[in-house]
Amino acid sequence: MIEVTGLRKHFGDTEVLRGIDLQVKKGDVHCVIGPSGSGKSTLLRCVNLLEIPTEGTVRIGQERLEFGKGRVKEQAIRALRSKTGMVFQRFHLFPHLTVLQNVMEGPITVKREPRAHVLERAERLLDKVGLAEKKNAFPESLSGGQQQRVAIARALALEPDVLLFDEPTSALDPELVGEVLKTMRSLAEEEQTMVIVTHEMEFARDVADEVLFIDEGRVVEQGPPSRLFTQPSAKRTQQFLAKML
Ligand code: ADP
Ligand code: MG
Repeated sequence: MIEVTGLRKHFGDTEVLRGIDLQVKKGDVHCVIGPSGSGKSTLLRCVNLLEIPTEGTVRIGQERLEFGKGRVKEQAIRALRSKTGMVFQRFHLFPHLTVLQNVMEGPITVKREPRAHVLERAERLLDKVGLAEKKNAFPESLSGGQQQRVAIARALALEPDVLLFDEPTSALDPELVGEVLKTMRSLAEEEQTMVIVTHEMEFARDVADEVLFIDEGRVVEQGPPSRLFTQPSAKRTQQFLAKML
């Protein structure tokens, strides 16, 4: 479903991603772990082309783009981006719209889908994330965990092939983390293809098919959680996990 090869990203003279490969099969969950500043957010932003890679290829489903060899058309970038949904650390809900309107906004304005059709889907998704009874509430009246679950429903409303999460629970009070992870677990069980940047090691151990440890813009080590967490082979992975576990 996702294939990234030789991905590099420079900001000016700084090389933030130094040749990253990523392959995610349909229905699989990959968790990305690594220290602050290692390039995790930039990697996700390059996969959905919020950042334009300096070099490398990105394929999602049938859409494939190559960077660093001439201009890539804006239309092609939008086509690839539309295959992804992104959930950020901060929820970025529209404060002047209700929960239901937040979830319906994308399909109606971006995809120009019929309203009745979108309404039915939005209500189903709010039910899925456990917020059916909050559909007419405004974001400010919700807890952080509830807001993040709305953000997940909103990302799903665009029916993306892959969902990308950038530290979805890092901005939450500890007692609200569990409800968001539970929602993400249920998506994993439904075989939603996901790439999740997280510091929740227990979650990664339970849910990931593959864990990637990234440091200084490179994948230092990757493997199934059963191996990576118990027998990491690289020294840097061992040091990182010693601090996290
Ligand atoms: P992580 O998510 O792993 O903490 P990031 O991908 O956010 O790391 O950042 C990796 C490095 O890239 C950091 O050193 C950061 O300062 C730098 N960086 C990220 N975005 C930009 C940008 N837009 N311009 C310049 N430098 C950036
Ligand atoms: Mg980050």
